[in-house]
Amino acid sequence: MTDIITVEATDLTRIYGGREAVSHVSFSLKKGEVLGFLGPNGAGKSTTMKMLTGNLAPSTGTVKICGIDMLENPKEAKALIGFLPEQPPLYRELTVNEFLTIAARLHRVSSGHIKAAVERAKERCGLTEMGKRLIENLSKGYQQRVGIAQAIIHNPMVVILDEPTVGLDPIQIRDIRALIKELGGEHSVILSTHILPEVEMVCDHVQIIHKGQLVFNGSIDVLKQQRKGNRLLLGLGQAPAQEQLLQITGVERVESLDNGLLRIHHTAGQSPAQRLVEAAVAGQWGMYQISPDQTTLEEVFVQLTFQEAA
Ligand code: ADP
Repeated sequence: MTDIITVEATDLTRIYGGREAVSHVSFSLKKGEVLGFLGPNGAGKSTTMKMLTGNLAPSTGTVKICGIDMLENPKEAKALIGFLPEQPPLYRELTVNEFLTIAARLHRVSSGHIKAAVERAKERCGLTEMGKRLIENLSKGYQQRVGIAQAIIHNPMVVILDEPTVGLDPIQIRDIRALIKELGGEHSVILSTHILPEVEMVCDHVQIIHKGQLVFNGSIDVLKQQRKGNRLLLGLGQAPAQEQLLQITGVERVESLDNGLLRIHHTAGQSPAQRLVEAAVAGQWGMYQISPDQTTLEEVFVQLTFQEAA
């Protein structure tokens, strides 16, 4: 994978009525990466997307697409972007072919290349058989594919998708996620969502935005690592005194839970599972359960956003 920086946002801020809807957001994206922009409703996702795509001027800050400044050279910068807004811009009374042909013209694909561009976009989005169908007669999942096809018709470096799976059924969601992942191979993709597992399934990088501010910016592996949480759940019929458990190497803290289980907090990278099992057998503690205690992504999210709010 090359290290070409495709998107560079620096200190993006947008003020609405004296309030910062987006506050000092900076990040960069490389070619071939899929970045998830995650946050609850009202966090500032759409406002950021609109600034990245040149549809809204930032109050301060800059956006560069492949080194081209969005404010100084909007036409050139926008030509490198494909955008699927939250409300897809579909002409329902047109066929897929007609609509994608118009989209190609709007994106300034030269007339000699339009037909091939339409065919390729359809092929990539699984729409080859749908060219002659009216958009209004397609299912919502297929309409969303058409929305993505118009965003990639000019083969842009960067594809930006605002909440692309909202309102789809589970099978459609699965298909659209697979398509987004695939797009990540050739393009840089930015996807906004309020669904944590979606980010985990599709993205390599994640940014969490809360009240206009980035509260997490890192690889998905770092987020998953936070989830592991260095904890075990332990069920013992005859639990010993806590001091005895604390003597086992790696055990840092023991918590008694309402359901009768013990939560063992241990040193990172030093799971005491094996030692606990041995001690339980030797001491006849009646062990009936030992399992990892994963923090859910939702918990991680709440922790991160509350830290920021505090
Ligand atoms: P998200 O996409 O994460 O749901 P938005 O970017 O739409 O969030 O909104 C961020 C904040 O900015 C919200 O508090 C919203 O009310 C406010 N906001 C968005 N657009 C406007 C606007 N045109 N005028 C005033 N406030 C706005």
